[in-house]
Amino acid sequence: MSKQLPVKVDMEKIVSLCRRRGFIFPSSEIYGGLSSCWDYGPLGVELKRNIKQAWWQAVVHERDDMVGLDASILMHPQVWVASGHLEGFTDPLVECQNCNQRFRPDQVLVGEVHRQNVFLGYASGVNKEEYDKNWLEVLSQHPTPGGMFRVEPTEPKTLQDFLDDRSKIPCPFCKAIGQFTDPRLFNLMFKTFMGPIEDSASVVYLRPETAQGMFVNFENVVNTTRKRLPFGIAQTGKAFRNEITTGNFIFRSREFEQMEIEFFVKSGTDKEWFNYWVKERLNWYINLGIKKDNLRLRQHMKKELAHYALDCYDIEYLFPMGWAELEGIANRGDFDLVQHAKYSGKSLEYFDDETKEHYVPYVIEPSAGVDRSVLAVLCDAYDEELDNGEIRVLLHLHPTLAPIKVAVLPLSRRGPLVQVAKQIYADLRQCWIVQYDDAQSIGRRYRRQDEIGTPFCVTIDFQSLEDNQATIRERDSMNQIRVPISTLKTVLAAKFSGEPLFVLSPGGQIWKGGENG
Ligand SMILES: [Zn+2]
Repeated sequence: MSKQLPVKVDMEKIVSLCRRRGFIFPSSEIYGGLSSCWDYGPLGVELKRNIKQAWWQAVVHERDDMVGLDASILMHPQVWVASGHLEGFTDPLVECQNCNQRFRPDQVLVGEVHRQNVFLGYASGVNKEEYDKNWLEVLSQHPTPGGMFRVEPTEPKTLQDFLDDRSKIPCPFCKAIGQFTDPRLFNLMFKTFMGPIEDSASVVYLRPETAQGMFVNFENVVNTTRKRLPFGIAQTGKAFRNEITTGNFIFRSREFEQMEIEFFVKSGTDKEWFNYWVKERLNWYINLGIKKDNLRLRQHMKKELAHYALDCYDIEYLFPMGWAELEGIANRGDFDLVQHAKYSGKSLEYFDDETKEHYVPYVIEPSAGVDRSVLAVLCDAYDEELDNGEIRVLLHLHPTLAPIKVAVLPLSRRGPLVQVAKQIYADLRQCWIVQYDDAQSIGRRYRRQDEIGTPFCVTIDFQSLEDNQATIRERDSMNQIRVPISTLKTVLAAKFSGEPLFVLSPGGQIWKGGENG
């Protein structure tokens, strides 16, 4: 009856569906919208909550070694000094327009490459080792005339000395030449003022990540929960970054929501735990129904790593615009706790009861974006089928994530049918989020539910009044079964838990029925 269409999921289709059905709207739309800000509508908020709830369930409630936290968005300004986030505020940075990496000009080494007094170009690097390597690379690009010479890289200066004429300076990261912007203060963090006076003493920032809330509460958690290493703290919440480039719908915006874990371990066990979390987090997406083919792991190259990170993997999803990061899992070593100990003056060492040692734990950080997960789930679920000459748009959402779990559809808006349908509606909504829809033809109503990913529709027709049975229709297969109304809850519960189909007969006998049975 239905035929799979070769569906090319493009962003326009997703944006249009989200807009049309109330998943996601542009922010402040009646005023023309606000760039890269988005509002989650009635269905979007349910989907988003379901994703966060599934995450919380998996990483907090189902584990003995994790606890939750909800830290405030505004934090002590010193937090951002310790974390390094304030650096871009106080020190001007240059940005490579090719790869968008940012550098402090006094931290990039630059030197001329010569052979026998012939100037060949410039080399750069973020440390001496990288500089030497890049220097020899530039040299090797110029064939040696008449034999080999022993060469030593020239002593580098810093980029600071070349800012006036940087047209020939290569980026140490991507090697693109002459791509550095003027040095400027990158206001990555949104700045605001606490209290009525807008002076420098009252400056606070909207947090650019939820992670720091967990680091600064490490001691509180250890002291109040009796958690012993290894254990983790999990948090979901809003974060704000004044990104220069935003886009791809909700993929990159300036206000976004994170789902982050800081998992504290003893150094020496960090590699093992790092590998564990990479696998664990990848499986979480697969268990939520995301196609394996659309997921991949990408290890960061050495030069991509933040200076403190020992290792990092991205879980990437094949979005309509290509592979892009869904979640990053980083081994941050002891960087964060050491920094906060240094700036707060508090010892953040952990006392190991068993070995009687004091040490600063290492941290494994799986950091996921809620909005990116929403986008990935929508892109992955989107499908079109040819059904009786019409295109059926549907979302193959995992039942756990579907905003509406069941729709109750009476075939008529009048008479005794309505009473039966309303009773079923009242009954089912004790267990699930249920929608009652009696507008337009049954075909149109099925389409509406398919398009928002509702897994099951329960239809009540005139025969229901005689045989006390209702029809359950499945979204993906469009298969239908008729079951006694008194067993609807049991059958749906079995369906949601993925059990093979069974029906309780009115006499209490359990039988396995075929689809359409
Ligand atoms: Zn670059």
